[in-house]
Amino acid sequence: MTVVGIDDTDSRERGMCTTYVAAQIAERLRTAESATVSRLLLVRLNPAVEYKTRGNAALAIHTDCDPERAFALARDRLELLAETDDERTNPGLVVAEHDPDTEVPDGVRRFARAAIRDHLEIADAVALLERHGYRSWHTGNGRGRIGALAAIGARTALEEWTYEFISYRESERWGTPREVDRESVFAAADDGYPAVWDTVDRGEGETVCVPHTPGPILHGIRGDDPDTVRTVAERIESEPVADSQLFVTNQGTDVHLRDGSLGTAEDGRAYRLEGQVASEPETRRGGHVFVDLGPPADAPTAGSADGAERLACTAFEPTKRFRDRVRALRIGDRITACGEVSRGTLKLEKFAVRDLVRTERVTPTCPDCERTMESAGRDQGYRCRDCGTRTAEKARRRLERDLEPGWYEVPPCARRHVAKPLVRGGFDAPTHPER
Ligand code: ATP
Repeated sequence: MTVVGIDDTDSRERGMCTTYVAAQIAERLRTAESATVSRLLLVRLNPAVEYKTRGNAALAIHTDCDPERAFALARDRLELLAETDDERTNPGLVVAEHDPDTEVPDGVRRFARAAIRDHLEIADAVALLERHGYRSWHTGNGRGRIGALAAIGARTALEEWTYEFISYRESERWGTPREVDRESVFAAADDGYPAVWDTVDRGEGETVCVPHTPGPILHGIRGDDPDTVRTVAERIESEPVADSQLFVTNQGTDVHLRDGSLGTAEDGRAYRLEGQVASEPETRRGGHVFVDLGPPADAPTAGSADGAERLACTAFEPTKRFRDRVRALRIGDRITACGEVSRGTLKLEKFAVRDLVRTERVTPTCPDCERTMESAGRDQGYRCRDCGTRTAEKARRRLERDLEPGWYEVPPCARRHVAKPLVRGGFDAPTHPER
């Protein structure tokens, strides 16, 4: 078997897309080399990586083509298609001669996992591909070899896979507005749901599967099942589809999240963190909502006054109605917060309500005359001004809460590629999926 890994071919301004380059390589392998292409892997790497153009995607093609010929063909396609005029585009190609499911060396498997959750150096990739005798090629600074090598190791590094069926535009139309019939997208999305997800955002009325960028993609349909994503794509009425390709992917799996703790969460990584809401949610300029997370009440450092273990969490304006969920939190609620930490702030992707504060302490009402009592002085409790009835403490009043225990998530229009939609299931509490 031969595995062709590629990455870093596109530019934000000029378009192109590494999935398209991979689809083109696969097409040539089939036609020019009469090879079998068994799978195309679309791997989303660490979304916090600063070098990414958009979604930090790397691609691998699994084929029975002779590795030397596959290498030459892939290199030729990369030289032709990669947007190397953009100095931030640094294409990389790595070709391995082994079975991607069973023969991946441990180091390459670990490298793939690290590329999804951590930050790697070009030298790490170079050392590893030399050690295993992989063929490689690059231009620019060669950073693309990181993603290309990670794509080779991904199949054994990860356990959970989903599918995306991508339809591409005719090249003459690239950069022009896409002609896609909205009604047909919503109807197809309804037919495919819940096996197919994040096709549209019903709340925002948005066709999420149709990108706005200048590149070659017409639409991409994501889901749990290869046949259903294809069927939904074929139901969409649009301008002519020039090409299409099914990808096996780690999208929608939450594989970027690691379990962490408030005190040790670092920038540039994504976490699942347990904590207790430590500030009233606050909407700031631009409509972004902020709330602090403190240690859970039973943690040894809970209640420490210095706030060293507090982490600001934010739901940015583009997360739309998710912000109402965050605004509904109250000090003392116990939650699990998920998202990437960047500049000391956790960008919320989803959270689970574990325990809600159900009561609040209020000034008591006189049991005899039903008037609000008054403070009887410092540490002296409360007293009714009319009848003199006294009580030692504040009263507890039941709170109406707009949240229930379980998971809440950003809507499809704000979903990160790798984030797992709640509708996919497998969560440790009830879910409140957005669609
Ligand atoms: P698109 O989604 O449009 O294909 P992109 O968002 O995938 O673009 P790239 O152009 O591929 O972005 O740029 C990402 C670069 O970062 C690549 O060179 C890749 O090798 C590198 N990279 C990916 N993951 C890591 C990591 N964990 N550590 C360091 N570098 C990484």
